[in-house]
Amino acid sequence: MGRMNLKKKIEALKKDKNAVILAHYYQIPEIQEIADYVGDSLGLSQRAAETDADIIVFAGVHFMAETAKILNPSKKVLLPDLDAGCSLAESCPPDAFEAFVKSHPNHTVVTYVNCSAKVKALTDIVCTSSNALKIVESIPEDQPIIFAPDRNLGKYIMQKTGRDMLLWDGSCLVHEAFSMEKLLALHREYPDCKIIAHPESEEHILKTATYIGSTAGMIEYVKSHPKGKFIVATEAGILHKMQEEVPTAELIPAPAKEDNTCACSECAFMKMNTLQKLYDCLLNESPQIDVTKDIQEKALVPIERMLELSK
Ligand code: SF4
Repeated sequence: MGRMNLKKKIEALKKDKNAVILAHYYQIPEIQEIADYVGDSLGLSQRAAETDADIIVFAGVHFMAETAKILNPSKKVLLPDLDAGCSLAESCPPDAFEAFVKSHPNHTVVTYVNCSAKVKALTDIVCTSSNALKIVESIPEDQPIIFAPDRNLGKYIMQKTGRDMLLWDGSCLVHEAFSMEKLLALHREYPDCKIIAHPESEEHILKTATYIGSTAGMIEYVKSHPKGKFIVATEAGILHKMQEEVPTAELIPAPAKEDNTCACSECAFMKMNTLQKLYDCLLNESPQIDVTKDIQEKALVPIERMLELSK
């Protein structure tokens, strides 16, 4: 079927079935063009909460469609490709997370929206990257916090807010591969540079480092190799000080950390949905997202708290 034809058929089916198409920013352009709303995780949750359509076709990854289902239990929520998952969500298996939460009672549990419905059901407040700081700051200072699933985002929030949080050790493989690729590309450009890193760098970066140490430790290390060439994974401000202390060393900053966590724009999972799959799923009203009533009711509370705090 030609693409135009397919688009027209989707439009017709959408009207027939009173369906709405919600698409994430990182969906392929053809899908964005046909969507009723295109947005980020927060915007999409807000839209999903407001819609009066009977069917929601969610062009995104699985946890997003689940969030739409939690907000609209009586509506049909369709995901064009059920295999469009998320490695970050998968890095937090619900059973293990439940045991973790139980072993740390009295903590407020904050989870990034990239997690399964079952994990949301164990959560006090959900957040997205656009409201994470605000949500953590809304919690009284003396209240201990568990943050999951992304340890990189967790570390970033801790730095920004000065709050101590207990972090779940989850991560996004796409992000790790992406930032690793950037670091290795830089290394190829400067093959005789050694990589040195601060222990707070992401783990995959630490694995490639010749030297890992505190700021003072790194400066001492560079001092002991005054003619050395280094790729330095730390804050830019420290690089400046290091250069002042050892003017003869060649220092190159490691690629900047992405603003927070993943590289969803580069994510193959996001690109699994196609126009054809979208048409098929709307036609067949399958695959559908199912969430049990018990999980839906529990997971709704922390999502509504987030939506309330994001108004
Ligand atoms: S890039 Fe985003 S959607 Fe893709 S696996 Fe990572 S967190 Fe999940």
